[in-house]
Amino acid sequence: MVDQEAIGTVSTELNGHILRCDPRFAELAGYSQGDLPGRIFLDLIVPEHRSACEEAYGRLTSGQASAVSLEKRLVRQDDMVLWVRLTATLQRDLDGRPLHVLTLVEDIDVRKTFEMKNSLSSGILRTKEERYRNAFQNCPDAVLITQMSDGIIVEANDAVMDVLGYRREDAIGRTSMELDIWADENNRQRLADALSETGSCRDLHIRLKKKDGAEFWGQVSASTTQIEDIPCVLAFIRDISAAKIAEEEIRNLAFYDPLTGLPNRRLLWERLRQALVASTRSGTKQALLFLDLDRFKSFNDTMGHHVGDLMLQETARRIASCLREVDTVARLGGDEFVVMLENLSEIPEVAAAQAKAVGAKILAALGRPYVLEGRECRSTSSMGITVFGNHNESTNEVLQQADIAMYQAKAAGRNTMRFFAPAFQSIVNARSALEEDLKEALKQNQFSLYYQPQVVRGLFHGAEALIRWQHPSRGMVAADDFVPLAEESGLILPLGDWVLQTACTQIAEWAGRPEGAHLRIAVNVSTREFRQSNFVANVVKTLERTGANPQNLVLELTESTLGDNVEEVVAKMNELRTLGVSFSLDDFGTGYTSLLSLKNLPLSQLKIDRTFVSEILSDPASSAIAQTIICLSQAMGFSVIAEGVETEEQRSFLSNLGCHAFQGFLFSRPLPLGQF
Ligand code: C2E
Ligand code: CA
Ligand code: CA
Repeated sequence: MVDQEAIGTVSTELNGHILRCDPRFAELAGYSQGDLPGRIFLDLIVPEHRSACEEAYGRLTSGQASAVSLEKRLVRQDDMVLWVRLTATLQRDLDGRPLHVLTLVEDIDVRKTFEMKNSLSSGILRTKEERYRNAFQNCPDAVLITQMSDGIIVEANDAVMDVLGYRREDAIGRTSMELDIWADENNRQRLADALSETGSCRDLHIRLKKKDGAEFWGQVSASTTQIEDIPCVLAFIRDISAAKIAEEEIRNLAFYDPLTGLPNRRLLWERLRQALVASTRSGTKQALLFLDLDRFKSFNDTMGHHVGDLMLQETARRIASCLREVDTVARLGGDEFVVMLENLSEIPEVAAAQAKAVGAKILAALGRPYVLEGRECRSTSSMGITVFGNHNESTNEVLQQADIAMYQAKAAGRNTMRFFAPAFQSIVNARSALEEDLKEALKQNQFSLYYQPQVVRGLFHGAEALIRWQHPSRGMVAADDFVPLAEESGLILPLGDWVLQTACTQIAEWAGRPEGAHLRIAVNVSTREFRQSNFVANVVKTLERTGANPQNLVLELTESTLGDNVEEVVAKMNELRTLGVSFSLDDFGTGYTSLLSLKNLPLSQLKIDRTFVSEILSDPASSAIAQTIICLSQAMGFSVIAEGVETEEQRSFLSNLGCHAFQGFLFSRPLPLGQF
């Protein structure tokens, strides 16, 4: 995911001594890895650059800066000197105490040397010529120098062969268009625009083509420069396909059912959400078919799980064979499948007939005998259908309707289908009643905050604040039963204000007691709240009003909250972060964020979603995801916490993977303040 090949890492103690480093850094510095710990890191920097480094690292350790980035020269053990970029961050423990400094060391010698070439006098140039050429030739990235006037490549290194498949001699004298390296020619224009606007661009991820036509993901950095008074573009191209493939694999694990290869519940949810948006725009109807195999449980028990699995795989294939390309079939788990039909007629009755025809075809296909391991078996299924796209339904409502209809089909004697009937609308109507109750609850102050402890290496360290609703007639309502509704209706805004206000008041109160001063409270922030233009101002005001120390406040965001507008999100986060507020990414692994874009976010923690934790011992995909998240957080200098830890086995498994912060029933359920 993170391309670490060209980047070494080194951790130093606050006094500057090297704690540890990775092989790549040792290689850069020309030492063996074991020789470096104990040395003073800045002794590896050329003497004339040391004081600037000292000053920057000083700002970091004193807390004046959260990260520093410097381009300086490193002296290798063999006395060779190398330009490197140092990106250093202060690593803190979960209580915010400085632990050590993590520095990423990137070899930028080739690029830097070329940038400098322009400014160096030609005398120096000549004496260094050979050295430049060496660096240029040995650079693992393809390096191309192109004349700005006509786009002709005037110089290239040998890595052009590895990256693009052209011999250096064949690339020189031609243009990138002639070489046909752009999988999408618009990208060439994008690059040219970026260069003419700012003179440089960094780390663009674009699809490129090799000589043999094979496409790959390239990471392109380029800058304009003058070489012998001729305006040129210096471009570096790196093949990052491996990183992209790794990222895709994780997506596959997270969004597809490993048994059948079908989309899973998460992906269905996402597609359903998109379909709802699309249908309000286009006016066409969609249908959701909810399917459940009849008596699958007893089939599984008598035939064995292995045969049960084969049955589910065959079922998946048969359903898929009844559908069009645009339709989706997903496996929700167990023997439940959901089919989503898109672009049906605009007329509800016609759409219903279309859905019914597909449903009948599926039931017939599933009713045919199966031959599993040489034995003939029979099965039938029940199906609930709902047609949607007429008004503003939510994903929840639509699934619920299809589910209700499916139970009607079961009740009607199985091997049949039923449509969601308006008579069941009453169940849906209960929702609107709940919304009314919510409004009332806000006025009447029926909410309370529960606190669930977070434990780091066995020590109690803080808590997540979780809202509860004491409903006058229904008793305690769980957050999942009203928070989504509050989000849809906008009631989450006053509700979120109340939560933040209550949590901050608590922080301020604990601050007065010696045993409580270090405790941090994590507050969930929903998308709607975070997107408010006055979100930052609101948090600042609440901190001021309550006197809470911002260092003790953690805001939990989810991937979907981050959305597409990265710049705005980062700006908001940075504003709060400078005050001391930190951010945790909740439910991590379940969303759609590009892992590669994570490194741009000023986060301090990733929170492994509880669905992965609950399956960590039984499902290899879940444990692979958890492991990847832990590695990722280590690589990016984030801390990591697992939620929903219920058993000692899960805890020790996670701890062996390198995750030492936990939250879950194993330690404590969420508790009202008094018991907490
Ligand atoms: P979440 O942020 O993922 O919160 C963790 C949920 O996991 C909580 O459910 C908690 O009670 C539950 N949990 C904790 N330990 C375990 C465990 O060991 N096993 C299992 N199975 N579950 C565990 P809860 O309190 O019902 O909250 C559900 C969701 O509602 C939260 O998910 C969060 O998204 C939302 N929510 C709760 N309070 C607030 C709030 O104040 N504001 C906002 N915006 N959302 C909230
Ligand atoms: Ca949370
Ligand atoms: Ca969570």
